[in-house]
Amino acid sequence: MRLFAEVGGRRPPRKGCSIRFFFEGQKPTPAADFHGKSGERLFLPGDDAHRLAVGLGPKDKFERDGLRKASAEAAQELAGRGVRHVTFETDAWPLPDAEEAAGIFAESVRLSQYRFSLRSEAPKDKPLESLAIVCRSAAERGRIGSLLHYIEAVADGVDLARDLSNLPGNMGSPAELARRARKLSGGAVRVQVLDRRACERLGMGAFLAVARGSHEPPAFLVFQYNPKSKTQNPKSPTAGRPIVLVGKGVTFDSGGISIKPSDKMEEMKHDKSGAAAVIGIFSAARTLQPRVPLVGLAPLTENLPGGAATRPGDVVRSLSGKTIEVKNTDAEGRLILADALFYAGRFRPEAVIDMATLTGACSIALGDVYAAILSNNDALAQSLQEAGETCGERLWRLPLHDGYDRLIKSSVADVQNIPEGRLAGTIIGGMFLKKFLADEHVPWAHLDIAATAWDTRGRDGRPPGATGIGVRLFYEFLRARGDLPKM
Ligand SMILES: [Zn+2]
Repeated sequence: MRLFAEVGGRRPPRKGCSIRFFFEGQKPTPAADFHGKSGERLFLPGDDAHRLAVGLGPKDKFERDGLRKASAEAAQELAGRGVRHVTFETDAWPLPDAEEAAGIFAESVRLSQYRFSLRSEAPKDKPLESLAIVCRSAAERGRIGSLLHYIEAVADGVDLARDLSNLPGNMGSPAELARRARKLSGGAVRVQVLDRRACERLGMGAFLAVARGSHEPPAFLVFQYNPKSKTQNPKSPTAGRPIVLVGKGVTFDSGGISIKPSDKMEEMKHDKSGAAAVIGIFSAARTLQPRVPLVGLAPLTENLPGGAATRPGDVVRSLSGKTIEVKNTDAEGRLILADALFYAGRFRPEAVIDMATLTGACSIALGDVYAAILSNNDALAQSLQEAGETCGERLWRLPLHDGYDRLIKSSVADVQNIPEGRLAGTIIGGMFLKKFLADEHVPWAHLDIAATAWDTRGRDGRPPGATGIGVRLFYEFLRARGDLPKM
């Protein structure tokens, strides 16, 4: 889908539909049976172009999420009616900040038109083809044009993340993800794939312990993005040091020998969503050219109960040298991340951010509205939370405290991978990972996206399946820091 900005009045009306928003009590025409309530829509067909009136609810309760939902649902309705082009006039926006609204509208419409299908025939519900923001002046068109450029680049990254997460286990193997990642190599982005032998030589015993149960060979992806020195942000106190992103990439998680119940096990194809987000972020970096160096690490493996699989009670030696008693083979994400987080240390990072569908407990704690954030650094946690509030990928902070450590004390190894009892599952995940940081003084944030990375039904106008969470969040975080060049 193409997004563009144009100045009003210059072009003849395009065949398509213009979308207008109304608050409660406002009407598109005096006679219309429409009241501007949230979720209300009125389609007004025309010979040349159609109009769609969309309700936003009470004006004093307006917030960005309401506009996101209304925009995406309107786009889905119009695509369903066979409309191909939509327009939004900044002139008609009923609040002062029309440019921000145009951005939220364009992004929500663009993201709503994602389709994933493995059917043999092309699906009948065709997405919208283009969206035009009709501006009041050439200056506004310039500003909105660059905003749309940013939105498209980020949305392409989100779509790639969604594609990878949505791939079923047989099609989205570690080798296949590595193949797709390699395609992003070039320009400022370098992609390296460490195979099983290379990981063995390094001593990634925790990562490889998970891979043992599958015939699919594991792969460990290393992305490096280096901005041209001219464009680097000179104000950054840690100039030249990268932000390291780590993504959990379990391409299918059966639980291993500690096998999961079969009900909904098919959803475990999404257990690679953290890695998918990392790959999406590096794909977008090629276009967006951030002013800060980035490293991306994605350990990719299946977790299956084959004859060589790790058993409950096995003790494995991680890259850090610490030994781990694997009490439950379904707590495998923290094993692969333990090695990836320690490996991150060799890049002398400014900060480390990991994203992982780590614990089922996260959905009990926060449901699918907030993802969990756990961090050793207040400033990093706060910046990420603010970015989440702005872009709608919200994060709620949970504590890390040494008081939880006794729950993962092993009687034979340095640490065990699950707690005694069922206490504080998401926090324990974070406490475990913290032990594998190469330098605990480096700011680190762990995002548990277990409940927010996919949504089998889709809602609020969003298509079903993977959400691509993490990509928009990270770029909003960079944008707020001033680490994205002006487009
Ligand atoms: Zn698992």
